[in-house]
Amino acid sequence: MAKKVLVLGEVREGALRNVSFEAIAAAQKIADGGEVVGALIGDQVSQLAGSLIEYGADRVVVVQHPHLKSYTSDGFSQALLAIKDEVKPDAIVLGHTSLGKDLSPKIASRLQSGLISDVTEIEGTGDDALFIRPIYSGKAFEKVKIKDGIVFVTIRPNNIAPIEQDTNRAGEVVELSVDIQNLRTIIKEVVRKASTGVDLSEAKVIVSGGRGVKSADGFEPLKELANILGGAVGASRGACDAGYCDYSLQIGQTGKVVTPDLYIAAGISGAIQHLAGMSNSKVIVAINKDPEANIFKVADYGIVGDLFEVIPLLIEEFKAL
Ligand code: FAD
Repeated sequence: MAKKVLVLGEVREGALRNVSFEAIAAAQKIADGGEVVGALIGDQVSQLAGSLIEYGADRVVVVQHPHLKSYTSDGFSQALLAIKDEVKPDAIVLGHTSLGKDLSPKIASRLQSGLISDVTEIEGTGDDALFIRPIYSGKAFEKVKIKDGIVFVTIRPNNIAPIEQDTNRAGEVVELSVDIQNLRTIIKEVVRKASTGVDLSEAKVIVSGGRGVKSADGFEPLKELANILGGAVGASRGACDAGYCDYSLQIGQTGKVVTPDLYIAAGISGAIQHLAGMSNSKVIVAINKDPEANIFKVADYGIVGDLFEVIPLLIEEFKAL
């Protein structure tokens, strides 16, 4: 049966994150020919509605308020619940991002609905949709189905391909006025650390360094390679604990979970807690001096060697392309 599905378009620094378009593709599977409604929440975000439509939303409902400029769970939940009351969807889809992970349990508990989080694949459509999600740190996958109530899912970035953008698509954009009130938190100012460029959780290529990189300076060739490949730099906890890089780069069980097209692990041993964050990457290349290193068990391509010799060679080769 065709369904009405609400999708939150996630805005960061004035632009829609890619996961928003991936969520629309997921929503289309659940909608099974029904309607996909985009939700946009923020301050002065209505100009982004057109992109949601170009990527497959049929219409967009926008809530704008100065207090929604930065994400707060009570502000955004008021706005999303108001949109949900207006749209009356059968299903809601959010990205499994920091925002989605914070907002979705709050909304699900308010709606007294189930929540299927961190979905990497959807099998079937409409009522027959089965949601596939990793469990036990990615060592197994479970298939989940919601039998009644609102189907509420968060999808892992970089796993469900967005549909192709169609700049000729048109759809209605309506603004919903919501009196955002009784906020427990108001963000006055956001002071950012220097940005590393490409967003780690959405990067298609990640060059990641471990304790084998040996120093903060040792990360420079990794940054250069990441730059050439249009990717981002990541790290193991070993490298973060040693002070070689910031914890925001940590990948793994207690860091970020990433699924890029290409993951290059340099000087990383492949502890189970690190694998939990990257083993679902599409292609894994490991560079390690130790041929017995555990990382080679998950690698598609392994290079046994010194990363300070191998990475400059890769830089040279890729520069020549
Ligand atoms: P090491 O294990 O020290 O490995 C360094 C590797 O570099 C070695 O394999 C060595 O052969 C290689 N090497 C050295 N020099 C060179 C060279 N010149 N060229 C090539 N190779 C070289 N870890 C995470 O990464 N992410 C997490 O989220 C995380 N969460 C954790 C949660 C808990 C509760 C616990 C207990 C641990 C967690 N850990 C996590 C830590 C994890 O167990 C490992 O200690 C950590 O991943 C090791 O980091 P590493 O591979 O960089 O260092």
